Amino acid sequence: MTDSRFLTHMKETLAGIEAEGLMKRERLIEGAQGAHVTIGGRRMLNLCANNYLGLAGDPRLTAAAKAAMDSHGYGMASVRFICGTQDLHRQLEARLADFLGMEDAILFAACFDANGGLFEPLLGENDAIVSDSLNHASIIDGVRLCKAKRYRFANGDMADLEVQVLTAIRDGARFVMIATDGVFSMDGYLADLREIRRIADQYNCLVMVDDCHATGFMGPQGRGTPAHAGVKADVITGTLGKALGGALGGYIAGPQPVIDLLRQRARPYLFSNALPPAVVGAALAALDIVEAADDLRARLFHNAAYWRDGLQAAGFRLLPGEHPIIPVMLGDAPLAQRFAQALDARGVMVSAFFFPVVPKGAARIRTQMNAALTQEDLDFALTAFEAAGREVGAIR
Ligand SMILES: *Cc1c(COP(=O)(O)O)cnc(C)c1O
Repeated sequence: MTDSRFLTHMKETLAGIEAEGLMKRERLIEGAQGAHVTIGGRRMLNLCANNYLGLAGDPRLTAAAKAAMDSHGYGMASVRFICGTQDLHRQLEARLADFLGMEDAILFAACFDANGGLFEPLLGENDAIVSDSLNHASIIDGVRLCKAKRYRFANGDMADLEVQVLTAIRDGARFVMIATDGVFSMDGYLADLREIRRIADQYNCLVMVDDCHATGFMGPQGRGTPAHAGVKADVITGTLGKALGGALGGYIAGPQPVIDLLRQRARPYLFSNALPPAVVGAALAALDIVEAADDLRARLFHNAAYWRDGLQAAGFRLLPGEHPIIPVMLGDAPLAQRFAQALDARGVMVSAFFFPVVPKGAARIRTQMNAALTQEDLDFALTAFEAAGREVGAIR
């Protein structure tokens, strides 16, 4: 029997989360992900998925997944290096590398694993990682698992980045890797990759970009934030779980020796199962679609501009930007929660973010645009935001 004191401790911790108003509750979606979802029998407009190109429920991807299961089976029952590598895995790695302009790529079960496994094999105790303070949790964990010295720079602060790089060099670092999200997902801000590349080149550093919230739609042909900024990253990590179909899976793309060494040493790659054929086959089909999806990208950015303008005209406070992540700033956590509830009652699904996910006093509703939302959907959502905003006192 499990120690009852231990279980009491768990219950007290949960009660504390509840008392602080920080308990997360999952909504049960009845059916597929999409611009509209059904929850408790109600049809809801969905403004909080990472489904940027609207491919998550695309019948072409389900067909590709079924075809890959028919030809390659359901599961691999192995890690990659024992007997888990199919022709499909290598095809997808080559396609991803080609899409991102890199020599090769390596698949992981998730980008969380890609970031978790990236640093430790590449850098040792004589090296340094200079990391943006708002980097994704998986980068933070990956850096923790690595023996390299850690330096943090204030989010997007290029003067501080330079200071930290110089400090790392003064401390004797052999190699310095700058690590950043391409897009910071709470704000929708883009990393200043031009300036990061300039600093990296000046001091001979490597640049690692986690482009989860960009690959497939930012930059020319959706090649991501480095392409958007017109620069090259040394290493890019990304996910199949957002714009590229939304299922799961992650990858690292980079120079051949980097990928070769990761195949030998990256622990989440060595000790975790190969991606299933259905996911790999569908990801290949997703890349076919994405490479030719200028229409979807145009629709996405049209939607983002229309939505941003509409919210601003209604009097909501936004953060400046161009990314389809568009946070509506409310300040107060209870207000953000009341607003989310008032929107829910009007058939709009959003997610409220508050401390500790964002700083205290910076609570917000994070809206995300996608290419599957129609003009009618956006007008419906704007009407709901205005009515709900007045009801809870977020706007006048
Ligand atoms: C979503 C996300 C991840 C995790 O990706 P998964 O493939 O879902 O594990 C990592 N980094 C960033 C910046 C993300 O937004």
